[in-house]
Formats: sequence, C-alpha cells, structure tokens
Amino acid sequence: MTAPTWLYENFDPAGSAIGFRVTRKLDEVQSPFQKIEIYESTDWGNVMLIDGAMMVTTRDNFLYHEMVAHPALFTHADPKQVVIIGGGDCGTLREVLKHAGVQKAVQCDIDEQVTRMAEKYFPELCASNDDPRAELLFDDGIAYMANCAPGSLDIVVVDSTDPVGPAEGLFNKAFYESCFRALKDDGILVQQSESPLVHLDLINAMRAEMGKAGFATFQTLPFPQPCYPTGWWSCTLARKSGGFEFREADARAKAFKTKYYSADLHKGAQHLPPFVAEALGD
Ligand code: SAM
Repeated sequence: MTAPTWLYENFDPAGSAIGFRVTRKLDEVQSPFQKIEIYESTDWGNVMLIDGAMMVTTRDNFLYHEMVAHPALFTHADPKQVVIIGGGDCGTLREVLKHAGVQKAVQCDIDEQVTRMAEKYFPELCASNDDPRAELLFDDGIAYMANCAPGSLDIVVVDSTDPVGPAEGLFNKAFYESCFRALKDDGILVQQSESPLVHLDLINAMRAEMGKAGFATFQTLPFPQPCYPTGWWSCTLARKSGGFEFREADARAKAFKTKYYSADLHKGAQHLPPFVAEALGD
C-alpha cells in the first residue's frame, strides 16, 4: 500500500486546481494521439486523465454522461440513429442505449486506447458495448462526420476532449457543416461546451460557428461536474430550426434509471443563471 498523495490538474485561466487523493498509478499509455493515465483514488474510485486533464472518475462521471445524452434524446421526438464523436470511455454510449427507441448508436473515437483503458478500469461504463445496436469505431470524428450520408442521423453527440490537440477540429464551422449535412431536418447536435463560469466566450464562439454552418437555435444546459475545472460544466444543443421543448411526459415515465437526470432537473437546467443568459444572449 502506497501512502496516499494528491494529484492535481492545474487550471491556469481560472487560477484554480482540481485534486484527488490517490493511492497509486494503475496504468499509463502513450497512444499516437495522447497520454492516458489511470489512478486509484481513496474516495473517487478510478480516475482517468488525458494529457494531464481529468476525464472521468468512477464517482462523478454519471453527471456528465447523463447530461450529454438524455436532454437531447428527450428533446428529439423519436431518436433512432445516433452518432457519438469521441466518448471513448463509453459512458455516453451506455446512456444513449438506455433509450429503447434508438436503433443504432455509432461511437467514433480517434483513440482505441481510451476504450481499452475504460474496459479495464471503468467496466461499468462499457456495460452496453456488446449491445447489438452499438458500433464502436476508432477513427477521426472529423473525417467520419464528413463522410456520413446526408440526412441520415437524428442525434450527433460530441463528447470530446477540450478544443486542443485532436479535438481542436471538432469546434469549428467545417465540422459543424458536416454535422448539419448528416442530420435530418429535426436532428439535434449536442456538444460538451466546457465551463459556464469561465468559458462563456468559448460557448459563444461555438454557437457562432454552429450558426455559420446553418444551425439556427441553441440551448446551453449547465450541470455540476466536480472533476472538471471549476466543477461546473455544460453541454450545448443546436437545431436547424425549432425549439427545445422536451418530451417531459416521456422523461417522467422513462423505463430506465438515472442518478442525476430527471424531468424536473431537465426543466431546471433550461433556466440559465442571469449572468450566463446575458452572456449568451438567451
Ligand atoms: N468528458 C470528457 C471531457 O469533457 O473532458 C471527454 C471524455 S472522452 C474520453 C473524450 C474523447 O474524445 C477522448 O477519448 C478522445 O480520444 C476523443 N477525441 C478527441 N479528438 C477526437 C477526434 N478528432 N475524433 C474522435 N474522437 C476524438
């Protein structure tokens, strides 16, 4: 047993850090794309870092995975065809496949090593990988979306790392144009959109790029995420037209369990704090 020590991700722009007390490093892989590390912690289960940034902990990943999946799936009238770009830890895939109406969910992560590490250290997140509706691809999500058949998708979930390195190209007009083309007219693009406390400029820039690609309406939903910088995160939904009324009755009657997402929570998340609403012009 190693003496516990503190593992930090320093977040310079906010002058803050996220830390976990860890007992040992369980694994480390340098893939062709990024460095993936896994630590065992005293209180948060296992912790995955990519290039030094906290990605997933056993204890709090449900917050993020449920919020990038369920609001979009309960907003779309009848989601059947779903693509997840990134999401290599497979937690978002698991949430998406809880919806019985989903016929196919393709997960396209650039880095197979992330999934191999998740299978070993976060097996609960990979519980639906063998679902016959799931397809796991290891490819660049930018190329994958560029080659998707036009009008073939109901939902695109962008569950990516921060907009640096391989994920940089997942935050610009060219990528959003591919998503726009691949989505049906009533389709929804949803993307993790960083912290509403310190990344409002980034969220506005994302929305502007989505707008240039043709998307017309946007909704940003904040949620807590202790393992990410500032502890407060968000996802942003975009549609070609129309609003974001969700299938509240279906969300209330859902046949699967969630730990954070609920119809009431979804409703509450739609009410942005005034400073966020003002910054986003909502
Ligand atoms: N929840 C996390 C967050 O907000 O920081 C994201 C976790 S998920 C593990 C991020 C995944 O995006 C990684 O597995 C990474 O390999 C993948 N990724 C980054 N750039 C990509 C690209 N261009 N195409 C597909 N996947 C990409």
